[in-house]
Amino acid sequence: MDDTQQPTILIAGGGTAGWMAAAALSRFAAGHRIVLVESDAIGTVGVGEATIPQIHLFNSAIGLDEAEFLRETRGSFKLGIEFDGWLRDGHSYMHAFGQIGRGIGLLPFQHYWLRARQLGFAKPLQRYSLNELAARTMRMQRGRTSAGAEMPYAYHFDAGLYAALLRRHAEARGVERHEGTMASVDRDGGSGDIASITLDDGRVLAADFFIDCTGFRGLLIEGALETGFDDWSNYLPCDRAMAVPCEGGGDFTPYTKSIARKAGWQWRIPLQHRIGNGLVYSSAHLPDDEAAEMLLANLDGATQADPRPIRFTTGKRRKHWNRNCLALGLAAGFMEPLESTSIHLIQSAISRFLALLPDGRPSEAAISHFNAQADFEWTRIRDFLILHYTANERHGEPFWDAVRTMPLPSTLTDKIALWRDTGFIHREHEELFTEVAWFQVFAGQGVEAQGHNPIADTLDEAQLRDLMQGTEAALVEQVRAMPRHIDFLQDFINGRAKEPA
Ligand SMILES: Cc1cc2nc3c(=O)[nH]c(=O)nc-3n(C[C@H](O)[C@H](O)[C@H](O)COP(=O)(O)OP(=O)(O)OC[C@H]3O[C@@H](n4cnc5c(N)ncnc54)[C@H](O)[C@@H]3O)c2cc1C
Repeated sequence: MDDTQQPTILIAGGGTAGWMAAAALSRFAAGHRIVLVESDAIGTVGVGEATIPQIHLFNSAIGLDEAEFLRETRGSFKLGIEFDGWLRDGHSYMHAFGQIGRGIGLLPFQHYWLRARQLGFAKPLQRYSLNELAARTMRMQRGRTSAGAEMPYAYHFDAGLYAALLRRHAEARGVERHEGTMASVDRDGGSGDIASITLDDGRVLAADFFIDCTGFRGLLIEGALETGFDDWSNYLPCDRAMAVPCEGGGDFTPYTKSIARKAGWQWRIPLQHRIGNGLVYSSAHLPDDEAAEMLLANLDGATQADPRPIRFTTGKRRKHWNRNCLALGLAAGFMEPLESTSIHLIQSAISRFLALLPDGRPSEAAISHFNAQADFEWTRIRDFLILHYTANERHGEPFWDAVRTMPLPSTLTDKIALWRDTGFIHREHEELFTEVAWFQVFAGQGVEAQGHNPIADTLDEAQLRDLMQGTEAALVEQVRAMPRHIDFLQDFINGRAKEPA
């Protein structure tokens, strides 16, 4: 690049990752030329439709209007994830977004709940969660409740429609799109950096920096740069998914469902026009044809396509940023969608990259800082996913027996031990999942805490009863005042929703 030229960032791939990167860079990397290459012949992975609340930050940062976004992507609101059968058949709990109960002073609610449970009058966590009470009664609102409480939410949306919406925004801001299939990735003979990509029709596209969004293929980060992969299938042994959309049956839940099955679990993601379903499973424990049968036998309505198999290996690239190439989305690695984290990982990598946006050749210090943060973020999410599996009581089912007894990473065993001994949960640095998230999964998966903080004992029994009952009664009252999710959604996308004052 000479001084008169804009530096060029080439995004290879136009799935959710590619178009999220294009939308964000075209908004924030002023002074850069942004080019995106995608192949209609290859297509996208076509799944990835449940999110976590942080997606608001991304959508609003790139200037998407929320009602337009939900209208265009045929989306719905999401208040949490229900885990059905994960402890044992017939048992269900939710990881709901937002707070559980209310603490007093410095002490979080979990210690009061643990003490109330010891005394025999604590109710299941759902009675102290605004989100779960609303989700289970199919209610929804935005903004603060009558009592001033926040109800955080995320979305379910159609991934193809989301990419199309992002594309419109990105192209309107000058992103150049090339349709074509990449045939080779060409490296500079001197530096070893990526210099250009060549399409199968002979077009050569050169750039200063490359973002690999080519999906599981990782054509740049692995195919060209041979970065290496940390395989985590010893901790998360599912290696297949079977996905199928089906018709919805009228009203739909404002939460994702994750239902434990013989050798994995089934997702259910309700949208306005269909329900997204899939089975994530371990091929060592369940043949593909049985997986397809199991999925088809457990749908709400008629299928809209044939079940589509997807193979994956859980893990991550050793470096997400290598030389002048950043890997995003499936090219960076994959952890199963149990807690809907992949799109968030794209978003957080984009924002860290923008904070370190190279001015010329990338700095080694910036690269290693970025990679250390990515390692931390991914391993802590991995640990949270493992917790759902390892603490199961599905005795006698080979898959579930194996994941209950497998060796765990020490980062997770330390966290479990601290909880068991003291009822304390430590959120380190900017770990994605908060104390409240871990609390819900510990409680839901039956991981018992033996103790609680003795500060909770300073309330006498009557005061503790008042705290528990008062919290529950206030939340029930707030939820009663909310509209039904489906009505709220229709009003919101049509500009008729009444927001609380
Ligand atoms: C079973 C499953 C369920 C999931 N569920 C969720 C979920 O609920 N929530 C969530 O957050 N995430 C989920 N994910 C992850 C989510 O789907 C991905 O993070 C997201 O779709 C990003 O994918 P991508 O853009 O990296 O890859 P892809 O969608 O695969 O896109 C790759 C792009 O690269 C292009 N490409 C590839 N090779 C070439 C070539 N040679 N030449 C030109 N172009 C090429 C393709 O055409 C395409 O445009 C799920 C993933 C799987 C596998």
